[in-house]
Amino acid sequence: MNHLDIYRGHLAVLTSQHEKQRLLAPSFREVLGVELIERALDTDKFGTFSGDIERSASPLDTALAKARLGMKVSGLPRGVASEGSIGPDLFIPFAISDIEHLVWVDAERDIVVSESYRSLDIRAASTRTFVGAELGGFLQRADFPRHRLIVKAENSSPLFCIKGIGSAQELEAAITECSRHSATGAVIVESDLRAHCSPSRQANIAAAARLLAVRISTHCPECRTPGWGKVGVERGLSCRACSSFVEQAVRGDLLGCVKCDYKKLELRVESRADPAICNWCNP
Ligand SMILES: [Zn+2]
Ligand SMILES: [Zn+2]
Repeated sequence: MNHLDIYRGHLAVLTSQHEKQRLLAPSFREVLGVELIERALDTDKFGTFSGDIERSASPLDTALAKARLGMKVSGLPRGVASEGSIGPDLFIPFAISDIEHLVWVDAERDIVVSESYRSLDIRAASTRTFVGAELGGFLQRADFPRHRLIVKAENSSPLFCIKGIGSAQELEAAITECSRHSATGAVIVESDLRAHCSPSRQANIAAAARLLAVRISTHCPECRTPGWGKVGVERGLSCRACSSFVEQAVRGDLLGCVKCDYKKLELRVESRADPAICNWCNP
């Protein structure tokens, strides 16, 4: 693979309000030689995890908007930002996954490079409780206090919540306070998924940063623009057992450029379809 060194010694702005610099900076420094300057800007207007401000755009568009905001404020032509999306996994029933989306915007080259990283390693627990109730099992599941918590008043409008709770005393006080604002007396206690409150999420953001830095360092074999990498898959293989055509079998990864139309198919090691997904062998 061809690697680039065009960004070495350059600065880029990281828009984040939740101390993500230490998660992203090592990969950007080691792989690209880029130093990240963190700009703590109010990005809550793009939506929050606790739901007090609804997210209207896709995670990728939100990350883009954040990066551009940081570039505008700092005057730097390059920016990076991340946005997580945590919820029921698309492929595994009952599992919760964390998908971290990261974008790199280079206004000089007029390109956007993005990567995402999906992980099932995320602490995201939630429970409904009352003042004085036992929370031992939940706190263990939530990995508290290593992972911080949010307490919300049930059915409060506007939502009344206390975030970033990191000790038993804070938790007790927050439950009492939120209970007073609750229409039912009940409160919801859940994982605070903001990056600085969630070590499991931090690990996923760092992994996504590594993927993005490597992708930025890889250039298009045709036009030499940074950001060459996987853009999709190509399907269709013949069955290993009966040789009939299996439409959904992945034949290879499609690699592409963020600037030109050049594409390249990288075939997978497996050149025939698994009979388990063949309509003839396994209808
Ligand atoms: Zn078959
Ligand atoms: Zn290209």
